[in-house]
Amino acid sequence: MSNSLKKAVLQTLRATGVFSVSTYLRRRDKLVILCYHGISLRDEHLWEGGLYMPVDLFWQRLAFLKKWGANVLPLAEAIKRLHNGTLPPKSVVITFDDGFYDFYLHVLPALRHFNFPCTLYLTTWYTRYRLPVFTLMMKYLLWKSGKPEFADRDAREHAVARYAEQADSEGLSPELRDRVARELAERIGMDYDSMLDERLFQLMTPEDAAEAARSGVDIQLHTHRHRTPHDKALFVREIRDNAKFVEEITGKLPDHFCYPSGVTSEEFLPWLRECGVQSATTCEHGMATRGDDVLLLPRYLDGCAVSELDFESWLSGIR
Ligand SMILES: [Zn+2]
Repeated sequence: MSNSLKKAVLQTLRATGVFSVSTYLRRRDKLVILCYHGISLRDEHLWEGGLYMPVDLFWQRLAFLKKWGANVLPLAEAIKRLHNGTLPPKSVVITFDDGFYDFYLHVLPALRHFNFPCTLYLTTWYTRYRLPVFTLMMKYLLWKSGKPEFADRDAREHAVARYAEQADSEGLSPELRDRVARELAERIGMDYDSMLDERLFQLMTPEDAAEAARSGVDIQLHTHRHRTPHDKALFVREIRDNAKFVEEITGKLPDHFCYPSGVTSEEFLPWLRECGVQSATTCEHGMATRGDDVLLLPRYLDGCAVSELDFESWLSGIR
């Protein structure tokens, strides 16, 4: 179905009250888990609209949840109630991946304002460095360069993968990688120091994350180095290192997980169980039901391209 046709169908369904009936009938015993990545500090949503949104759009989403009467639940409670059949109507969980500084700056105040619980899946390796994540910064800079050869997303991904391989093979420290990014920024006439000051593409520091935890954010697992190796020992190390860092930050042992980059595999499931992981979320699109494997829970990935009508159709279960 074309996008305009889909939109017309959804508008008709909403106008005729089908959304409300659907909310009542199709949403029972089902859970909407929303997934967010980043809130723009600058213009990141123009670069990666699927991953970033402007702060005012995020506030609109939370205001919509409030107006719609969503029961925004903490993740662990929602999963427990999904399985024992006691989910309240209109149940929603809010999750964020990665834990960038924009979470601290923009998301925390919004959550406090609406008094909504939230789970943050924190990747921890970069939290020790006040430096941008190299690959993200490089992709953004190539986009900012405006060069025709980097107009295409795949071309940027490919070029940055080559940069990263080179940096890995030379064993470059985070500081030396950052120098590569700085050189590229300067070549295209961008002020790198101001990007560092704004903490663009930087993860929260352990202190920022501890403050988020004290404000009630539930900090959970997303691997230490944002990767899921297909070797059991390396995979388990990613979880254990991540858990250790999160526990140091929050004082609580995390036991819920989100697959970095949405990469899932059947072979990970027993490894996650061995690590004591209680649930795991993916980037598969859909509502979570009791029939889903608790280690493969789908989510709705919200971003700039998602209209309010789409958003409402997820919530009401019309999709
Ligand atoms: Zn991630």
